[in-house]
Amino acid sequence: MLRQNDRNKRISAYHSIREAWTNHEESSAAILNAINGWRLENNSLRSKKRDLHYLDISCHQSHINRETLNSLMGTTYENRSVGQRALKAMAKGMKVDKLGPWDILAPAPMMAGEGKVYGLKESIDLISEAFSRLTPQMGDFAQMMYKKNWIDSRPSEFRSPGAYCTGFTNIREPRVFMTFDGSIGNVLTLAHEIGHAYHNWVMRDMPVVSTYYAMTTAETASIFGETLVRDYLFENCKTDKDKFEITWQDAESAAAMLCNIPARFEFEKQMVEKRKEANIPASELKSMMNDSWKLWYEDSLSEYDDMYWASKLHFSISSIGFYNYPYLFGYLFSLGIYAEKDNHGDNFNELYTNILRDTGSMNAVDLIKKHLNKNIEEKAFWQGSLDIVEKAVSRFEGLV
Ligand SMILES: [Zn+2]
Repeated sequence: MLRQNDRNKRISAYHSIREAWTNHEESSAAILNAINGWRLENNSLRSKKRDLHYLDISCHQSHINRETLNSLMGTTYENRSVGQRALKAMAKGMKVDKLGPWDILAPAPMMAGEGKVYGLKESIDLISEAFSRLTPQMGDFAQMMYKKNWIDSRPSEFRSPGAYCTGFTNIREPRVFMTFDGSIGNVLTLAHEIGHAYHNWVMRDMPVVSTYYAMTTAETASIFGETLVRDYLFENCKTDKDKFEITWQDAESAAAMLCNIPARFEFEKQMVEKRKEANIPASELKSMMNDSWKLWYEDSLSEYDDMYWASKLHFSISSIGFYNYPYLFGYLFSLGIYAEKDNHGDNFNELYTNILRDTGSMNAVDLIKKHLNKNIEEKAFWQGSLDIVEKAVSRFEGLV
C-alpha cells in the first residue's frame, strides 16, 4: 500500500501501519532485546582470549573485512547528499515541498492509467533483450526460465507481495517465486531475481560446497541484472515522460541505498552497543531510529519514521544480524563491475561469469583483486561507483 500512486492513500497506510506497530511496541522491543542480547552473549562465549566484535562477525559472514566495511560506509556518508538530492528531485516531480516517509517507495507520479502495465511474457522478452546485450547466453537463460515454468507468478488471492529466488541441491536448477502486477518496478524485480538465478546457473557444475556465497556478493548478480534492464529501458525510451518514469526508479534506488540502508545500519549499531549495557525500552528505540534517519536523510524528508525498527522486519531475523549493508555493497559493487564492461569488450561476459563462479570460495576483497585488479578496501573503488550513481541522479534532476 506504500507503493501505490495515490498519495493520500499512502499517507493513511503509513499512519495505520505505524499505529498498529505502536500497539505492539513492547512486544517488538522485547524481540529485538532478546535477539541482540542473545547474540552478544553468544559472542562473549566464543572466545576467552579476545573480545569478538559484532561487526567482525558480520564481516566474516559477509566474506569481507572491517577495512572494506569502513570504506564502504565512510565513502557513502561523504556522498549522502546524492541520495538526498534524489529525494528532493522526487519531491519536485511529485509537486510537493518535501517527501515524507510515506513517499519513499512511491511510483513515478502519473495521471491515472498512464503507467504502462507489462505482461509476464512481455517482461521476459524485454529482460532477455537487455541481458543479451551482455551475452546471448544470459538472454537465452531468461527465456528458458520462462519456458520451463521456473518462474512461479500465477496471481492468487493468497499471495502477499514479494519475490525471491531459490534452488535445489539435486537437481541443480533455480526457481523464482514472485507476485507480479505488471508495474515497471515489478519488471526490475523480476530482472533482479533472474539475476540471482543466473548466478546459481553458472555454478551448477561446481561442487555444492563451493557455491555458498555470502549475501554481499549474492546481491551483486541480482542488482547487475536490474542495471542491465534499466539501461536498456532508458535507451529505448521514446519520450521524456518515459525517461522520467525509468529514471524515477534510479532516483528511488539511490535514495534507498545512500540514505535508508545506511540509516538501518547506524540504528542497528547503536542498538547493539546499547544492548551491551541494558535492556532498551521502546521509547529509546524510537529516538535511536529518529537520530539514525536524521544523520543520513538530514533535511530531505519532512519527518522520520521512528517506528521503523518494528515495521522493518529485517531487524528481527534471528539467524543473521546486520541484514542491511550487503544491499548497499551489492549495489555499488555491481556498478563497479558494470563500469568495467566497456574496458573488456567481448571478454567481459567471461570475466563476469568467472567472478560469479568464485563468489563461493573467495572473499570479496581477493575476488576483485584477482579479476579486476582493484582494491575494495580503498575508498577510490566505492567512489567510482558513487560517481555513477551521481550521474544517474543528475540525469533524473534534468528530467524533473
Ligand atoms: Zn536479492
